[in-house]
Amino acid sequence: MSKSNVVITGGAGFLGSHLCDKFISEGFKVICVDNLITGNVNNISHLAGNEDFSFIKHDITNYIFLPGRIDYILHFASPASPIDYLKLPIQTLKVGSLGTHKVLGLAKEKGARMLLASTSEVYGDPDVHPQKEDYWGNVNPIGPRGVYDEAKRFAEAITMAYHRYHRLDTRIVRIFNTYGPRMRLDDGRALPAFVGQALRGEDLTVFGDGSQTRSFCYVSDLVDGIFKLLMSDEVEPVNIGNPAEITIKQFAEEVIKLTGTKSKICYKPLPVDDPKVRQPDISKARSLLGWSPKVGREDGLKITIDYFKKSLNRD
Ligand code: UDP
Repeated sequence: MSKSNVVITGGAGFLGSHLCDKFISEGFKVICVDNLITGNVNNISHLAGNEDFSFIKHDITNYIFLPGRIDYILHFASPASPIDYLKLPIQTLKVGSLGTHKVLGLAKEKGARMLLASTSEVYGDPDVHPQKEDYWGNVNPIGPRGVYDEAKRFAEAITMAYHRYHRLDTRIVRIFNTYGPRMRLDDGRALPAFVGQALRGEDLTVFGDGSQTRSFCYVSDLVDGIFKLLMSDEVEPVNIGNPAEITIKQFAEEVIKLTGTKSKICYKPLPVDDPKVRQPDISKARSLLGWSPKVGREDGLKITIDYFKKSLNRD
C-alpha cells in the first residue's frame, strides 16, 4: 500500500520540524511548507535527501497548488512567541486568517483531514483556572497580543465553519507552553531567554514579580498528543499540555540550579496583557485519546539545556 501524504505548514519551525520527524518515523510522506520568516532550514536539514520528505518555501497566506493526493494537513505556520508576533503583527494576523483559509481550501479540494494548531492564548488572561476547553476566554482584542490571540480564535471559527458547512474533516489542538530542542535562543520566550542568560553568565530577566504561572510541556509529549488527536474522531478543540504549573520566578530558579550558573535574577516590567496564570485541564485528552505527558520538567530541561549549550558553542 502506498504511504499516506501529510502536508505540514510551518514545518521548519520548532514544533513543525518535530512533527515532520514524527510523521516520517510513522511511515508517512511529508511535504513541509514554510516561508522561513521564523522557521529555519537547520531544523529540517537532517531530512534532506530522505525520499519521504520534501520542502516547499512558500507563504501559505498565498494560494498554493500541490499536485497529487494529500491525506492530512497540519497547519502550524505562525509566528508563535510574544516578541515574534509583536515584530510581525500583520503576518501573524494574515497567517491565522488568510493562511488558515488557504489551508482549509486545499484540504477541501483534496478531501484531506486538516488539523489546526491553536493555542492556550485563545483563553487570554483567564479567569477560569485551570483552563478547560469549554471556557471561552478573556482576550483583549486590541492589545499587543491580540494579533495572535484573535488570529487563532478566527482560525478556530473558520475551521469549525468548514467542518459544519463543507463537512470537512477537521481537528483543533490547543497547545500550551511547549519547550525542547530547536527552540530559538532569541525567540524571547521565558525558557530560551533564561537558559541563554544562565549559560552566558548574565542575570535572568524575570518580568513583573515572577508570580505569574505557566505549565511547560516537553516537545515529544506534545507531538505524541497531536498525533493521537489527528487519528481520533474528536472534532472540537482539545488541550494538549503538561499541567505541572510553576511560577516564572521558581522556573528561573530551577534553570539557575540545573545550569549551575552564578547568575542571579533581575526584574523587568511585565508586558501588557501578560496572562497571570495558565494551566491546561487535560481530562479530555486523557479520556478521549488515552494521552498524558510523560517527561518531567527536570528531564526535559536537561535535554534542552544541552541543546542550547551546543548551539551556543556553534555560534
Ligand atoms: N518572561 C519572563 N522573562 C523573559 C521572558 C518571559 O519573565 O525573559 C515571562 C513572561 O512575561 C510570561 C512568562 O515568562 O509571564 C512566559 O512567557 P513566554 O514569552 O515564554 O510565553 P507566554 O506564555 O507568555 O506566551
